[in-house]
Amino acid sequence: MSELSKNDIVDYMNSGYKEITSLMDELNSLKDPQITYSKNIFLPITNICRNECGYCIYRRSPESFDATILMESDEVLAMLMEANKYSCHEALFTFGEGADEFFEVRQALDKQGYSSMVDYLYHLCSETLDKTNLLPHSNPGILKKKDLKLLGEVNASMGLMLENSSSRLMETTVHSKSPGKDPKLRLKTIEDAGKLKIPFTTGLLIGVGETVEERVDSLLEIKKLHDKYGHIQEIIIQNFKPKPGIPMENQLEPSLMEMIKVVAVTKLLFPHVSVQVPPNLNIDSAQMFLLAGADDWGGVSPVTGDYVNPEAPWPELSKLKSLTEELGFKLVERLPVYPKYITHEFLSERIIEKISSIGL
Ligand code: SF4
Repeated sequence: MSELSKNDIVDYMNSGYKEITSLMDELNSLKDPQITYSKNIFLPITNICRNECGYCIYRRSPESFDATILMESDEVLAMLMEANKYSCHEALFTFGEGADEFFEVRQALDKQGYSSMVDYLYHLCSETLDKTNLLPHSNPGILKKKDLKLLGEVNASMGLMLENSSSRLMETTVHSKSPGKDPKLRLKTIEDAGKLKIPFTTGLLIGVGETVEERVDSLLEIKKLHDKYGHIQEIIIQNFKPKPGIPMENQLEPSLMEMIKVVAVTKLLFPHVSVQVPPNLNIDSAQMFLLAGADDWGGVSPVTGDYVNPEAPWPELSKLKSLTEELGFKLVERLPVYPKYITHEFLSERIIEKISSIGL
């Protein structure tokens, strides 16, 4: 497909049913008939966060009665061993951002013998590699390059949602209280991961007040980095869902057609990068996204729920299999790092050895 200009992409995003269905047909004719998923365990290490995003129900303040200040190492290990029994291969470490800026979290880290969240995460990833058949995939938020480098040694891949590249959203309910959501900082972390050759997952959050043009700009920013460093393995297109009690509870969610257009355009721009729409948020329309170019279901956990969207349970594997096969595709398990990144250029020796021992 010839190089597309920003205007071409915006035209696709604004086009009608006919143009989009013909784009979907074209994408499907090029598509690998395999749809992947990763069998994972979700480990919410802390829900303390310096940001207050307008759509979030995961974050807690340290004084909240149900705050997870810090999961202890023994507790994490017990969950990992449980996941090991279920033959999971991905340990998804999730955090609120900058949690160790809070005294209560620093105190809990100190009790465990760690001076920062990065040091503690390194230890947890290392334990995962030593004691289980799981591979770490961490999402600790924006990071300094030296911290990315350290964590890159013990992670099969890492992730950070760009969400959107528009600084305008920093002035709206979405991110006005979230300094860590400054797109410049997030793009810097994604770029540093590229310089360090860390296989990386990022993505967009759709329906939080961004314009069509801002969606396109965001995809083009990711593309610029991927063209330069080649490290983006997966792009998540996540739809905003209103939830009672959040500052954005009255905001409308994006329509199915809007989502389909973003998915199709993402696949058009990134033909060799996996595109994922979280199935738990969209089980009724999940097959439409596969037809629009999505080719990965993301992490599916037989052990834990989605703590970020607890109201939307993950579908059973058997359900994903039937949704996939009904369209004539084949469901295939993958690791948290995609096959083309399993090289010494992208992974540490320790991770490569672990992958060989897993043998998936
Ligand atoms: S950064 Fe994540 S955890 Fe923190 S408020 Fe935003 S969405 Fe919630």
